[in-house]
Amino acid sequence: MINAPQQQIPGVYHRRVGDIVVTAISDGFLDGTLEVLRNISQDEARQIVTDCFRPARRTAVNAFLIHSAGRLALIETGSGNYLQPTAGKVLTNIKAAGVAPTDIEAVLLTHMHPDHSAGLTDMATGKPNYPNAELVMHQREPEHWLDDARMVKGSDREKKMYFQAGREQVAPYKDRWRLFKEGEVFPGITAIPRPGHTPGHTTFMISSGKEQLLIWGDTVHVPEVQTARPEVCMDFDTDQDMAAASRRKVFDMAATDRLLVTGMHLHFPGFAHLVRNGTGYRLIPAAWEQAL
Ligand SMILES: [Zn+2]
Repeated sequence: MINAPQQQIPGVYHRRVGDIVVTAISDGFLDGTLEVLRNISQDEARQIVTDCFRPARRTAVNAFLIHSAGRLALIETGSGNYLQPTAGKVLTNIKAAGVAPTDIEAVLLTHMHPDHSAGLTDMATGKPNYPNAELVMHQREPEHWLDDARMVKGSDREKKMYFQAGREQVAPYKDRWRLFKEGEVFPGITAIPRPGHTPGHTTFMISSGKEQLLIWGDTVHVPEVQTARPEVCMDFDTDQDMAAASRRKVFDMAATDRLLVTGMHLHFPGFAHLVRNGTGYRLIPAAWEQAL
């Protein structure tokens, strides 16, 4: 009797951008409801995901290793042991990619939300998962999430999941923070802030020679819906109007400049191009590539 497989293949995919190697690392996925969408009816949203053969709001969660100039950075850390058992696989997949977490010298965050920053720290022991890394993020992220006056105004869920948990996740790195406003934050990585989803939400442009890749963070959470309807926001956007305006800027730049893009919530490995389509846009997945 031969047993059927029970483990998915390791979620690791390499993509070269000039002299830089970007490795998409899957954290797994999170299932949720379409009720958190704004500026669209439930029926319309359900029709779009059904037409695209998606289970209702299945959110892929990705992180990215960046090998650049002989140095190693990690963009995002996934959800660690904080959210659902279908996610939290970044550490396992980094090791599957042949990388020791101790070799990572910088962890860059697009923003402090649990599917991005919970993997920084073992929430059970309080120990950092990347003991040799500095933590690099936009200055408005800790300014916002560590501000007691703002926390008081949040819902119970926001207080617990974003403010309180966020503080615990970044605590072990507090003497190794490097906060930025914009510009180059690691060799070949330029921070382009696109606030709204959170106050310091940031996209990262990876550039080497003539090649570029835009890692657009949480520009979309439900790619099929929000590329077709860029005005659609999420209940958990800090500022929905600003998030929608930022999304339009990112989409316009990606489509006009024919940029290769990827993101934290595009279906793994997430590399794609964005094209205009009627009043919205459409993602075209990139072809399979060699690592070298
Ligand atoms: Zn997210």
